[in-house]
Amino acid sequence: MLPKAGSLWLLRLLRDIQLAQFYPSILEELNVTRPEHFDFVRPEDLDGIGMGRPAQRRLAEAVKRHRSGNKPKNWVYKILGGFAPEQKETTPPSDSPSFLPEPEGGLKCLIPDGAVSRGELLGSGCFGVVHRGLWTLPSGQTVPVAIKSLRVAPKGPVGTELRDFLREVSVMMNLEHPHLLHLHGLVLGQPLQMVMELAPLGSLHARLTAPAPSPPLPVVLLCLFLQQLAGAMVYLGSRGLVHRDLATRNLLLASPCTIKVADFGLVRPLGGAPGRYVMGGPRPIPYAWCAPESLRQGAFSSASDVWMFGVTLWEMFSGGKEPWAWVPPYLILQRLEKDQARLPRPPLCSRALYALALHCWALDPADRPSFSCLEELIQEAWPPEGHCVRDVMEPGALRMEPGDPITIIEGSASSHSPSSTTWKGQNSRTLKVGSFPASAVTLADLKGSPATCPVHKGSPAWGEQHRGSTDGVRPKAKLRELPPAKSQRRNMPLQRIKGISKSLESVLSLGPCPTGGGSSPPELRHARGVPQRPPGLLPRPPFASSSFQLSQPPRERPSWPKREPLHNHPLEVPRASKATVPDPKLQKRVMEVELSVHGVTHQECQVALRATGGDVVSAIQNLKVDQLFHLSSRSRADCRRILEHYQWDLSAASRYVLAQP
Ligand code: AMP
Repeated sequence: MLPKAGSLWLLRLLRDIQLAQFYPSILEELNVTRPEHFDFVRPEDLDGIGMGRPAQRRLAEAVKRHRSGNKPKNWVYKILGGFAPEQKETTPPSDSPSFLPEPEGGLKCLIPDGAVSRGELLGSGCFGVVHRGLWTLPSGQTVPVAIKSLRVAPKGPVGTELRDFLREVSVMMNLEHPHLLHLHGLVLGQPLQMVMELAPLGSLHARLTAPAPSPPLPVVLLCLFLQQLAGAMVYLGSRGLVHRDLATRNLLLASPCTIKVADFGLVRPLGGAPGRYVMGGPRPIPYAWCAPESLRQGAFSSASDVWMFGVTLWEMFSGGKEPWAWVPPYLILQRLEKDQARLPRPPLCSRALYALALHCWALDPADRPSFSCLEELIQEAWPPEGHCVRDVMEPGALRMEPGDPITIIEGSASSHSPSSTTWKGQNSRTLKVGSFPASAVTLADLKGSPATCPVHKGSPAWGEQHRGSTDGVRPKAKLRELPPAKSQRRNMPLQRIKGISKSLESVLSLGPCPTGGGSSPPELRHARGVPQRPPGLLPRPPFASSSFQLSQPPRERPSWPKREPLHNHPLEVPRASKATVPDPKLQKRVMEVELSVHGVTHQECQVALRATGGDVVSAIQNLKVDQLFHLSSRSRADCRRILEHYQWDLSAASRYVLAQP
């Protein structure tokens, strides 16, 4: 539904608490247009529009916050109050678990290994695999989560992968936004695991490319996603960060109407030259999504994220097609710069939205809109909606029946007579797209009058033609008012192909990519981060609740280097093969160590005790040093110093090392 002028606050408020689906009924049935109107809304009224009581409580809190200008109090609200609408809503437990994190900043939570169990494989990324899982809180309550485990080589995590994994943790632990994937905590086990908010419906890319019978997504929903994405990017930019990998594969569906930006593996702080991050060396980057300056100089900024936003928009409206699949990767930069080529307008994309994408693809980063400007531009390019007033059965026309909600994608007049005007739109009932006589649709914005308003021949889009009137219709689009790109036609000769950039050199080394088929060399596919399922695993049907078979895989034993057991040591632990009676004193000490060090196994405690001649305190300290050592890639001596500084508080020391770049 088209957000009404003056009620955008309501849409935003509802979106923030994942209740956007109630926007039309709250606005139209309950007549709420201002925050104060909620004073007159009774629980029965909300029951009447199908809102459950837990959701009502969430709404009441959000309205209170909105009116007092406050933000959500703490993370507990986010975890327990922010479930997707179709999920079972749960009341927060009254007892606050002792290991729960600080409300603001710092590592959210160190989660004991035994508190999470992994289930179905959801996907795999550059440095880890992601499983669906369950996190059991000390109260016994379980929270569905996604668990990303660091891929472990036979001799422990590979340096770069560990660094990237930890970088992702340290980025995520400082972020808090309704449209950024939330990190619940970290399991300092083997393998290292990130426990994240679960996006039960998978990636937007998978949804866009889902085969029939999955219906295409409504155009209005795509616009809503764009707005959520722009909002999340405003926030990320305000934290001085660039994402560098915006793409539909990295947008996850937390509910049918809510996306969350995920995959923070390439996020970097904007240091150095004002607002720019320059790559230190050749690393995989998603070429087809990248701005020219990123391809040429490895330079990233909020403006290059804006370019990627434009490509993501294109993906959304193209049904998840691969951008530039028809151009060999090593020619993309040339096509963008020298030929001034841009991705073509997808059929579902209105001219107004395409103009917005073109704006994001201005050659000079300074000519691109900011994300906050994009938030407004999306609002203005929002496709209008109407209702069908008569049967449309004409051959070749979009079929519709009276009452069908229709989203107008574009309008063009074949003459000055309104009756012969044809529009293009989407029937929200059938989700089919096509042309139809404009006279068959009444526009919601025009308060019931038939769609016979003048449409000027050759003008770019309906949305732009009908704005600007003051009778409740949205204001005129700003797209036309934006200054023309300063350097769109800057005649910059393309450097000799070999010297373009380090990142491009690595593409060149792959050789030309076959045109047309969209297939890429495996390395490039990896760089593009296209999610790949292991062979034999069927994709989950989007929006279908897949049965969650939680199986507890056998826990892998730590492959980190361990101390050699001391032979003939007085604390030599009896081997299983020897039928000896366990020493209760020893067992007590092992237990003591196990309880004091996060994520260690019984066996590791035994080994540690052996190494210290049974000294519990030293064993605990050595194990903590080990834990920090594997977490941070610092030297053991450094880890010991840090732990001493933090009085052997492993959590605090972990927070410290993870917060370091
Ligand atoms: P990543 O390593 O972040 O690229 O994740 C790999 C794949 O796992 C993604 O493409 C998603 O399909 C899936 N995935 C990652 N995180 C989540 C999550 N929080 N909820 C659901 N699926 C996820």
